[in-house]
Amino acid sequence: MINVDKIRADFPILKREINGKPLVYFDNAATSQTPQVVIDAIVDYYSNYNANIHRGVHTLSQEATDKYEEARIKIQHHFNAKHAYEIILTSGTTDSINRVASGFASLLNKGDEIIVSALEHHSNIVPWQMLCEKTGAILKVIPMLEDGSLDMKAYHNLVNEKTKLVFCNHVSNALGTVNPIEEIIETAHKFGAAVLIDGAQATPHIKPDVQALNVDFYVASAHKLCGPTGVGMLYGKQEWLEKLPPYQGGGEMIDTVTFEKTTYAGLPHKFEAGTPNICGGIAFGTAIDYMNAVGFDNIASYEDELLKYGTKELLKIEGLKIYGTTSEKTAVISFNVGEIHPYDIGVILDKLGVAVRTGHHCAQPIMDFYKIPGTVRASFSFYNTKEEIDIMITALKRAVAMLS
Ligand code: PMP
Repeated sequence: MINVDKIRADFPILKREINGKPLVYFDNAATSQTPQVVIDAIVDYYSNYNANIHRGVHTLSQEATDKYEEARIKIQHHFNAKHAYEIILTSGTTDSINRVASGFASLLNKGDEIIVSALEHHSNIVPWQMLCEKTGAILKVIPMLEDGSLDMKAYHNLVNEKTKLVFCNHVSNALGTVNPIEEIIETAHKFGAAVLIDGAQATPHIKPDVQALNVDFYVASAHKLCGPTGVGMLYGKQEWLEKLPPYQGGGEMIDTVTFEKTTYAGLPHKFEAGTPNICGGIAFGTAIDYMNAVGFDNIASYEDELLKYGTKELLKIEGLKIYGTTSEKTAVISFNVGEIHPYDIGVILDKLGVAVRTGHHCAQPIMDFYKIPGTVRASFSFYNTKEEIDIMITALKRAVAMLS
């Protein structure tokens, strides 16, 4: 059970006012808010043991290294990876995807096929297009259906012996659709293809088990699950991480360096060149602890209640259309009202203290599918309330009256 008053007290930003109105923060799919424990972890790092990791013999460096590696183990346990060294700390989902795409450049040949879904964020489209340009591989797309789900029949027809990689998000950021990743992974594996799942939008709501999923790569960003920005993770199965060449050269990722020959460090350091976001990594671990203390089952059932309530109340507004109506979805509601431009609604809602996202949500192909410029997206988190949804509905009615 969620005690929402107690939880809200953990988030100092929720006490803010915007334009003289209490903040209603419904842009959680873009980034989540930060609880005090995570803020404290950041302050503690810079106040007490700020030092570079892995190479210092002095106390501060050892303390920072221990805490950073502890965070890696927390992330390992959270995602149920077999080994801590299968967790690469990155700057976020985009960075994680690019590290894998760059590595596959040396493994693909002209005519190989890679499959993405029509529901992807641009960060899970553009790196693969760049990879195709480099290698001559061909990009195929799993189409979407009107209700915002994937056309799985089409997927089964697309995947074949030439398929080397399949990429799909676990949850769509634009619509909230939860994709059938188990089926996607199992089918791809029958043809020997590797699968990367973009968990950026799933991880705030679902606790993924990478071993049970038998997924090859799983990526996520800390800032979507109550952690800081600029840090994220790449899970890769050991066998794949060993096959891929390093992404960047530099300090930390080497074993020995001479001008004749350099040998690379083992996992995970092979993929972690340079000084990482040490504080961010540590605070990522704290955020994961915080989310687990709230409990992912509690989070999922509470957010589902908000989703059902918000959907029911929004649909009472004349001319309002929700995009992504599949029942398999997380607490994201993407909508438009009549012909009103989503941006105009967003501006008025902000004046009334309500933060929503408007636009294409970095998923232009979805907007093209629906033939719209964008949507208004309200995305809920476990610290939101039904009362806040009521405030949004009242504000939206005012906006519609002004703009009609
Ligand atoms: N994929 C999805 C599904 C996302 O929602 C996002 C963030 N909006 C990203 C990738 C990119 O994440 P980041 O900007 O943290 O790298």
